[in-house]
Amino acid sequence: MKIGILSRRPQIYSTRRLEEAAQEHGHEVHVIDPLRCYVNITSHSPAVYYRGERLEGFDAIIPRIGASITFYGTAVVRQFEMMGVSTLNKSVAINRSRDKLRSLQLLAQKGIGLPVTGFAHSTKFTRELIDLVGGAPLVVKLLEGTQGLGVVLAETDKAAESVIEAFRGLKANFLVQEYIGESKGCDIRCFVVGKKVVAAMMRTCKEGEFRSNLHRGGTAIPVKITPEERSTAVRAARIMGLNVAGVDILRSNHGPVVLEVNSSPGLEGIENATGKDIAGSIIKFVEDNAAS
Ligand code: ADP
Repeated sequence: MKIGILSRRPQIYSTRRLEEAAQEHGHEVHVIDPLRCYVNITSHSPAVYYRGERLEGFDAIIPRIGASITFYGTAVVRQFEMMGVSTLNKSVAINRSRDKLRSLQLLAQKGIGLPVTGFAHSTKFTRELIDLVGGAPLVVKLLEGTQGLGVVLAETDKAAESVIEAFRGLKANFLVQEYIGESKGCDIRCFVVGKKVVAAMMRTCKEGEFRSNLHRGGTAIPVKITPEERSTAVRAARIMGLNVAGVDILRSNHGPVVLEVNSSPGLEGIENATGKDIAGSIIKFVEDNAAS
């Protein structure tokens, strides 16, 4: 097969591993920077050009679109879809997953367990919003945040009010969420490929932190997940329409709750923690599902 990996950074672990795995499986693989692509939007002959050349003959595209380039990156993915090329995650699903509020609404509608979450525009209802999620301690999250940035734990109602007012003053969109203290600073990343969780790791936050993101100094170990966690992760990915997803789950007193469904989950942390060949599983999925 001829496979394109859409990534801005050929040298990072995830891109390298996918490239390697594709080669090991005997495929021709090209790493393409989506920001250097330009597209021709016509009905008879849609095309993507890269460094002056028309891209042709691709059987499948693996999008690795970072949050900062969602708009242009997904436009390029969509253009490949218009050309009839199979894309591992569809552009519409990537866009959906990038909007935290929309994602939570879709997951809630389908009965996926979530932390109690509130959202409001008006400054008049700060107190009501705090009460809605059961009061402090609570978590305030910027909708645009990634890798734990813009996620704040407010330990008292007073602190929560101050953070909410500060975010409002900055005209930022944010969520207010029940704090799942019983997870004790640990979350579970389930790596979903197709209808399976191919690997799972537990991330634990560093001392004095409540966010377990590896970018925030968290550490990861492999974890055995329960059947309920497994089915929650697979269902969450399916509801978002993602074939490959990193589903973040907290173990709460009311069962597994989903924090987020990531459409370009990193491979380094989870391959290192679990020793599994996740890049190989992704390529296998591409082989089995790309229309030939
Ligand atoms: P990001 O997309 O920036 O990673 P998350 O919503 O996943 O944001 O939050 C980052 C981390 O903060 C999570 O991995 C988790 O450890 C912690 N966290 C987030 N929300 C909650 C919550 N409601 N209760 C407890 N911990 C939370």
